[in-house]
Amino acid sequence: MLPPNSIIGIVGGGQLGRMSSLAAAQLGFRVHILSDSADGPASQVSMATTIGPYDDPDTLERFAKQVDVITFEFENISAKGIDLLSQLKPVYPSGNILRISQDRLKEKQFMIDHHIPVAPWVAIHKMEDLKQAAELLNFPFILKTTRLGYDGKGQAIIRSAEDLQLAFDALKPHPLIAEKYVDFSCEISVMVVRGQDKTICTFDVTENQHKNGILNLSFAPARIPPDLQEKARSCAIQIAESLELIGILGVEMFVDKQDNILINEIAPRPHNSGHWTMNACSVSQFEMHIRAVAGLPLPPAKRHSDAVMKNLIGPEGMAKWKDIVAIPGLIGHLYGKDQAKPGRKMGHVNILFPFNTMPGDFGIQAALGPLKD
Ligand code: AMP
Repeated sequence: MLPPNSIIGIVGGGQLGRMSSLAAAQLGFRVHILSDSADGPASQVSMATTIGPYDDPDTLERFAKQVDVITFEFENISAKGIDLLSQLKPVYPSGNILRISQDRLKEKQFMIDHHIPVAPWVAIHKMEDLKQAAELLNFPFILKTTRLGYDGKGQAIIRSAEDLQLAFDALKPHPLIAEKYVDFSCEISVMVVRGQDKTICTFDVTENQHKNGILNLSFAPARIPPDLQEKARSCAIQIAESLELIGILGVEMFVDKQDNILINEIAPRPHNSGHWTMNACSVSQFEMHIRAVAGLPLPPAKRHSDAVMKNLIGPEGMAKWKDIVAIPGLIGHLYGKDQAKPGRKMGHVNILFPFNTMPGDFGIQAALGPLKD
């Protein structure tokens, strides 16, 4: 167990690092950020920042020497970089998990190897593979880059044979992955956390609605039957155990029209769809993650209220801030980003309802007030 005042190193300087730092501070730890830019959301609330490229060995070494343990809020660091950090200090979750989650082909293969359901997919190395994928998956299907995609970036819907060449040329780098289009009834996610003593727990299943490829609203608990919730949780637990996870992992899933659960992707870090835990649980996803990384015991991931989370995106989201702070019941979180660029996550708002009293859509929109869509 890491003693109080130990230094937790976080790779990445964004909002997930910021909220993890605040949780770490509450537990008496200090946080040192590794970031490629000064004054990011995480640096504003932590003890120190090493600034430099994520793949520069000198920068990584300088960072690692100043911390006791290392975790991530950002996954896109090279395999070499991960290896270097792992040689110098304990890294949680492990470099191996990061490698799997960084690459959609590795991630899908991992699911297949562990008999975890995913939508049919095909690896695309050359144009001929894509033509064959079209026959296997039928139109429409989705073509994605295998690395560095987020918030719907790096992907295209292929609707007909005419789209094939255009999408193959536009998406880089190759190889790509083609996935069957899932006609889902809803998207859900499970935050699962595993401690150093192998205790494992999951937060309640979250239902997620996206707008323009970016998470817009999350609902906790997900409005799906209890048996499906149980299925989703046990899928997440199976993934976490198979990966020998230490820390938190977000598991994104589709529920299809036949009530099958299919895994979309995993993220070995706190996740946007878990932000509701900051106000609806006594221990948030960020505190759980820090506890796991620091070797502290994990309390049960209990929800005391129903919750809706709304993301504040870009200039439109920021424009609502003055209304948000004026309305009791809207619990605002801002990330300290100076420029509200379109599509940028600037903050989020949580709204709580007493346990098991989530209203219907009309009531939720009313509660959202100035934030309603
Ligand atoms: P991803 O970056 O893979 O999480 O994809 C972003 C969003 O695109 C998902 O949350 C879904 O809304 C949608 N999406 C991704 N893959 C598929 C799929 N195979 N079928 C249907 N929708 C998808």
